Amino acid sequence: MKALATLKPALLAAALSVLAALPVTAQERVLNLYSARHYQTDEALYGNFTKATGIRINRVEADDAGILARLKAEGTASPADVILLVDAARLWRGEQDGLFQPVKSAVLDRRIPPQLRGTDSGQGPQWVAVSTRARVIVYDKAAVKPADVDSYDKLAAPALKGKICIRSGSHPYNLSLFGSVLERQGPARTEAWLKGVADNLARAPKGGDTDQIRSVAAGECAVALTNTYYFARLLRSTTAADRDLVARVGVIFPDQAGAGTHVNISGAAVARHAKHRDAAVAFLEYLSGDEAQRMLADGNNEYPAVPGVQTDNPALIAMGKFKAETVPIAKVGAATAQVQQMLDRVGFK
Ligand code: FE
Repeated sequence: MKALATLKPALLAAALSVLAALPVTAQERVLNLYSARHYQTDEALYGNFTKATGIRINRVEADDAGILARLKAEGTASPADVILLVDAARLWRGEQDGLFQPVKSAVLDRRIPPQLRGTDSGQGPQWVAVSTRARVIVYDKAAVKPADVDSYDKLAAPALKGKICIRSGSHPYNLSLFGSVLERQGPARTEAWLKGVADNLARAPKGGDTDQIRSVAAGECAVALTNTYYFARLLRSTTAADRDLVARVGVIFPDQAGAGTHVNISGAAVARHAKHRDAAVAFLEYLSGDEAQRMLADGNNEYPAVPGVQTDNPALIAMGKFKAETVPIAKVGAATAQVQQMLDRVGFK
């Protein structure tokens, strides 16, 4: 109420009568955010939103799976208003489990490209992207020619037998990439391709994306997949060991001559049982603003979801511009259930 103290008495009375007319929930001016993103720039971002709107943000931080489990357990009693998750496979899971609600917003329609929104059954999308990342191929420069790894298709080529390191095929990052392949190429070709990739592995899937990059640099394998921000993080590392490591590893944006590189997202949704729905929508719209887009991207070496927003991340600039796929990310998410069945059939852990 600090702002009210500076008002003249007549204005103060008018302001108070407006407040009194509002429902209790609107007066609270809070927003409960469940976030799977944990970056310092995100904290500054929330602070700026509070400064601009007076809406205070209460944060619950957990990993993606923890947030989805918590929302399910809480049911209609959930205090969650906005949910921030990473990867379309997980956002689709939340959508399937009925944890979100559609949002119709002219601002979001204008700012977020249609292919970066969740399923829309006419009442607006179930979620929207707030930032993007590409899934790229890294390779041992001493062992592999770029032309042998310039498409996802080539990961199944006999030439790469025993050369690929990868995290679990069932990890959301891979499920979504494979879902995008399924959308573009259909089930028969996709399953044959997955079998080919599984046959080319240097070892059983394990670890995270950074582990795969390190394994390429160490010569344990020649080729791996990673999200762009993990490679960018190593490029920006100040340790000599990391500098040596990235000097040995090349990065390729696959399918530049074809459908474009697979792009995934961090996304935001309004919770199904949000008690502060207007504040939640206002927050999503705020996240689509230029400044918020830059902060969201910079916090994790990602790209803005909104076209035309410029960032000056030195690592991403060094990695270069690329052509992104145009497969709708909602379809990618939806394809992941079928992908999991294929992985089970071909024995891709
Ligand atoms: Fe990640």
